[in-house]
Amino acid sequence: MEVKIADTVIALVKGDITEESTDAIVNAANSRLMGGGGVDGAIHRAGGPKIMEECRKIGGCATGSAVITTGGGLKAKYVIHTVGPIYKDGDHQEPELLESSYRSSLDLALDKGLKSIAFPSISTGAYGYPVEEAAGIAIKTVLEFVSAHKGLALIRFVLFSEADLKTYSQILAKLTK
Ligand code: ADP
Repeated sequence: MEVKIADTVIALVKGDITEESTDAIVNAANSRLMGGGGVDGAIHRAGGPKIMEECRKIGGCATGSAVITTGGGLKAKYVIHTVGPIYKDGDHQEPELLESSYRSSLDLALDKGLKSIAFPSISTGAYGYPVEEAAGIAIKTVLEFVSAHKGLALIRFVLFSEADLKTYSQILAKLTK
């Protein structure tokens, strides 16, 4: 599914984000930037040790913030590492922090002059965020961002399962109709 808002295409696809050739891919990292399972592990495996070397120099990243490294051996030139919230009950600033993760990543991409960026479904794996709620926040934040800022030509969500793709697609359709 794909929509165009002002100058930006927002596209939803099912796939493996490590294979994306957008200028940057976003990593759902942890606050120590030490790698791990899920999409984080996949990105470090596919991109090689250079990304971890840069992460070590940066040292860490607060929840809701984002930092940038090169893409190592990936097709994407950069990896934007953001730390989403660990979901407890929705009453511990999880929505604000998740929104901040998406916004900080988009801000970084724009500051760097990048034209395209790919996001995974931040926080909905090991961090336990219910996917419908997380998708609503993700899509809403991206839509608000592209209405307020020019510069990004393409924002892709690369969802790992058919079910997640369907959830994100339904929400994008609803929020843009
Ligand atoms: P978090 O700790 O932020 O929850 P996870 O990596 O555990 O991050 O999960 C986030 C989402 O990324 C989940 O939907 C998971 O299925 C998905 N995912 C895992 N590997 C990949 C990949 N290679 N490409 C895209 N998405 C992935």
